[in-house]
Amino acid sequence: MSRVSLRHVAKSFGPVQAVKDVTLDIPDGAFVTLLGPSGCGKTTTLNMLAGLEKVTRGDIFIDEQNVTKWAPHERGMAMVFQNYALYPHMNVFGNIAFALQLAKVPKAQIKERVHRVAKALELEALLERRISQLSGGQQQRVALARAMVKEPKVFLFDEPLSNLDAALRTRMRSEIKKLHQQLQATSIFVTHDQEEAMILSDYIAVMREGLVVQYGPAEDIYRRPQHLYVATFIGKPRMSTLSGHLRVTNDGAMTFESDTITLRWPFMPQHGPIIPIDTQAHLGIRAEDAQLLVDANATAPHSSDVFHGEVTLVEPLGSDTFIEVSRGGNAIVVRVAPDLHLRPQIPVSVRLPRHKLHFFDMANGNRIDL
Ligand code: ATP
Repeated sequence: MSRVSLRHVAKSFGPVQAVKDVTLDIPDGAFVTLLGPSGCGKTTTLNMLAGLEKVTRGDIFIDEQNVTKWAPHERGMAMVFQNYALYPHMNVFGNIAFALQLAKVPKAQIKERVHRVAKALELEALLERRISQLSGGQQQRVALARAMVKEPKVFLFDEPLSNLDAALRTRMRSEIKKLHQQLQATSIFVTHDQEEAMILSDYIAVMREGLVVQYGPAEDIYRRPQHLYVATFIGKPRMSTLSGHLRVTNDGAMTFESDTITLRWPFMPQHGPIIPIDTQAHLGIRAEDAQLLVDANATAPHSSDVFHGEVTLVEPLGSDTFIEVSRGGNAIVVRVAPDLHLRPQIPVSVRLPRHKLHFFDMANGNRIDL
C-alpha cells in the first residue's frame, strides 16, 4: 500500500496541452477514479503516473519519494490496459508469469505466485489455454492477474471494462471492487462512465480540459457538486436544471424566477447571517429529491415551492420509474414509484424542497453556497 501525490503536473504534446495543472493526493489504500469525457487528459495523467509518459512540468511522489524521473519498472505500479495488451501467442500461465520471468524470479517462486493469483481470480483451469481461446471476461481476468502477480504498491486501470458487453462489464466491475476490498491496494482507475466511477470509488477526480474540476469522496461529488459541470456529469438520470434569477433578501425570503415559473422558499441560513444574493443562476435538483405530489387536493395550487407542469416522458426501469415534467422550456425529472401509472400530458405538480436544491452561478458555473 502506498500514498501517491501529483504536484502541479502538466503534459504538452507540441501545442496540445493534454494536462494543464493537476494536483492530487491519493491516500494509502484508496480507490480513486479519474473521471471525465474523452480527451480531458485522464489517460495522459495515468501514463505519467506509470512513467510511460514524461511530465512536462510538476512532480510525482510515492510515499514521500519523488519518483518523477524513475523508470516505469522502478515505481512498483502495475497497469491494466483497456485492450489488456496480452501476448496472444502465449498461454495464460505465460502471460501471468512474463513479468516475473523478466525480473529473473526463481522458477519455483513464479509457479507458486502464478497459481496463487490464478486461484484468486478463478483462472486455474485455464492456465494452459491460449489467449485467443478465452472470452472477453476471461481475458480481462488474465490482465488483472498479470497486474496482481507483480504484487504492486499501486494498481493503475485504464478503462479496463470498456470493451466488454453490458452484462460482463457489470460483473467485472464487481470483481474489481471485491479485489480491492481484499487487497486494499491503492488503485487509480480511469473512466468516462460516471456510474462506474460512483460504484467503485472512494474518491473521484472529475476532470475537464486537462484540469481537475473537483476532487473528493464520491458521495460529496454527488451530494455537493462544486460546479454545474460536475453536477450534470455525475448522476443518472442527469440532475435537472432550470435557469433563472435567484434572489435572497436579508429578511429571509428566497425566490427563483424564470419566464414561466416563480418559486419561493423561506430561507434560514445554516451558518451565520444571511448574505443577500441577486444573480442569474441555475437551479439544480436530483430526480430522487424532487417530490411528485400525487394527491392534487393536498397541493395548494399556487404553493410557492411547487413546479406545475405536465408529464412529457415516462421511463419505467422496473425498480423505479422516471418521469419528466415540463412547463415552457423548463423540465424536471422525478423518480416515482413503479406502480404509479402516469401518462404523457397529465398535469402534475412537483415539490422542490429547499434543502435539496443546488444553485450555480450562471456566469462561471460555480456553486452558490446558501
Ligand atoms: P479518452 O477517454 O478518449 O482516452 P482521455 O481523457 O484519456 O481521453 P487523453 O488520452 O489523456 O484523454 O488525451 C488528452 C489530450 O491530449 C487529447 O486532446 C489528445 O488528443 C491529446 N493527446 C494524447 N496523447 C497524445 C500524443 N501522443 N500526441 C499528441 N496529442 C496527444
